[in-house]
Amino acid sequence: MPLPKFRKILLKLSGEALMGDQGFGIEPRMIQYVADEIRSITDLGIQVAVVVGGGNIFRGIAASSFNMDRTSADHMGMLATVINSLALQDALEKKGVQTRVQSAISMHELAEPYILRRAIRHLEKGRVVIFAAGTGNPYFTTDTAAVLRAQEIHAEILLKATKVNGLYTSDPQLDKKAEFIKNISYMKVLEKQLKVMDMTAISLAMDNKLPLIIFDMNQAGSMKNIVCGEEVGSRIS
Ligand code: UDP
Repeated sequence: MPLPKFRKILLKLSGEALMGDQGFGIEPRMIQYVADEIRSITDLGIQVAVVVGGGNIFRGIAASSFNMDRTSADHMGMLATVINSLALQDALEKKGVQTRVQSAISMHELAEPYILRRAIRHLEKGRVVIFAAGTGNPYFTTDTAAVLRAQEIHAEILLKATKVNGLYTSDPQLDKKAEFIKNISYMKVLEKQLKVMDMTAISLAMDNKLPLIIFDMNQAGSMKNIVCGEEVGSRIS
């Protein structure tokens, strides 16, 4: 078995990662695939926390354009992340991985409330902790929630799963001259306004020197390769 380089990681999964080619919602094949990828790293004895987005179901900022109050819309967005978290929990448990969902918005019947010390204890026991409902506050994103939770649990690294294999100087689908960026500083990401994560998330990671790796979730085995020390994707540090 390869020796892992990290002891504790946080995985940020966007809602779109669960959507597959459907354009909306959760594709059963995708959630199984994601659960398999996560299991491949819990099998190495790594502590894994996950923050799941909700963009495959509802994004607050989109709803505010049809005259809905942003706070209400963001509450709906956070509920979308709970739906995704419960789906991921079910898929992981069917594969024999123990999990707990902790929600930043209380809903005791279906998820634990977010309690840091309890989350840490679950991780120590080998349970995957899925953080649902983002930060619990409107006007934030699950990227920021991911950076926040990674710092609270003292994760050594945040892995941000995307649909491309990392960062580019411009959109590689539109610009043939786009160059792949293997390593970049937080400040450069902010200066160049690279759209990899929102600015609040990048600044928070920068203030606390949390390394971020951007990788392609659709490349099977990528996550395992990263945690075993291979240089996959782009690194922001
Ligand atoms: N959201 C929020 N506060 C948070 C996290 C999320 O209000 O701390 C809402 C916001 O409306 C957002 C939605 O939840 O659009 C879904 O999250 P996000 O857009 O980050 O999901 P992703 O793009 O990762 O799928």
